[in-house]
Amino acid sequence: MKLQDLDVTDKTVLVRVDFNVPIDEDGQVTDDTRIDKAAPTIRHLLEEGAAVVLMSHLGRPQQEKLEDGTIDKEKFTLRPVITTLEDHIGCQVTFVEDTIGEEAKAAVAKIEPGQVILLENTRFYAGEEKGDEDLAKALSELGDIYVNDAFGAAHREHASTATVAKFFPADKKSFGFLMGAELDGADKLLNHPAHPVTAIVGGAKVSDKILLLEKLLDFADNIIIGGAMAYTFSLAKGGKVGKSLVERNKTDNALELLKKAESKGTTIYLPLDTVVGKEFSNDTVSKVVPAGEIEDEWQGLDIGPKSVEKFSEVIAGSKSILWNGPMGVFEMKNFAKGTNAIAEAVARATEENGAYSLIGGGDSVSAINQAGLADQVSFVSTGGGAMLELLEGKELPGIKAINS
Ligand code: AMP
Repeated sequence: MKLQDLDVTDKTVLVRVDFNVPIDEDGQVTDDTRIDKAAPTIRHLLEEGAAVVLMSHLGRPQQEKLEDGTIDKEKFTLRPVITTLEDHIGCQVTFVEDTIGEEAKAAVAKIEPGQVILLENTRFYAGEEKGDEDLAKALSELGDIYVNDAFGAAHREHASTATVAKFFPADKKSFGFLMGAELDGADKLLNHPAHPVTAIVGGAKVSDKILLLEKLLDFADNIIIGGAMAYTFSLAKGGKVGKSLVERNKTDNALELLKKAESKGTTIYLPLDTVVGKEFSNDTVSKVVPAGEIEDEWQGLDIGPKSVEKFSEVIAGSKSILWNGPMGVFEMKNFAKGTNAIAEAVARATEENGAYSLIGGGDSVSAINQAGLADQVSFVSTGGGAMLELLEGKELPGIKAINS
């Protein structure tokens, strides 16, 4: 069911959001993107006369316990989120230092339409990450309706993202607006793309992106490969990669992909040149060399100017663009030029040619933000792993749970 079609007036709506945001030592939220993106769903529910009970995870409290084996509640509390959340939704939020216990039940029993409660970190319970039925049932008792807007956690089969949905009938559960927009973005690209479709895939490892690359062969006209991944392809083709980050045991996969691409009519563009450095540091001595000619003492850290030119030309001729993964070590200013130039090419194709551009995957999202171009592309995903799995063609547990 669509969020707009749910009758939420005078109902208590349990909303799973993704408030897994970075918080600094002073308790300040340093990147509020996820809170900002969840706000439209919360505001809509309040405007429709619902009471809203929010739940989310934050960090990995089960994996990072205190020395005495207990949860580090101070480090992983969701309390610091409150101020930022209040700013975004324009109303007061009550924080409950509990998720399913008596305090949570009492707070929910008292809630009135137009009011908002934020429950404590769902991962304080070991059952959350195990998809535990009892925890899910207890959570389900905190709302008449369940809305899942936590796209960033949709690939997890956890109690609050998937199992909980079992306890609500089809007309009492839905995706939130953010989740809906993420699904529409992926659907547009995977199932109804305007051609030519160009996928830009970068980042560290071929092994992380093999499934994505395989899926892309089904519908992409062009695949641009950059980042350290490209050195595994280069090595597979007999190139010299020096000290570059490379997966020597993945060269067969790389060759296989190149072969499949040829038979499926997908053109794969590999870098023509590489910016190499002596060390893995921003200030290291650097130079540009042809791809596959990296000497022993050097390592590839970015794509070179000829690659930028060729890749930008392919991007400019595209009608649908997917970008996942940076072209180099963009965290270092001196090796961010290739990634920034690709960000500019994607923004230009979107603005000037009306291409549909989806930026999906954690690091390309940071890259487009760093380039200051996030508002000049069609869609920037909030879910790194979730978007990757969606694009690989997988059915995400959080999505299946709402649809079934
Ligand atoms: P991923 O999460 O797989 O998209 O990988 C992103 C990471 O890949 C970023 O932290 C980049 O710094 C890194 N990366 C990209 N190109 C290179 C390279 N040439 N050498 C080392 N790391 C790279």
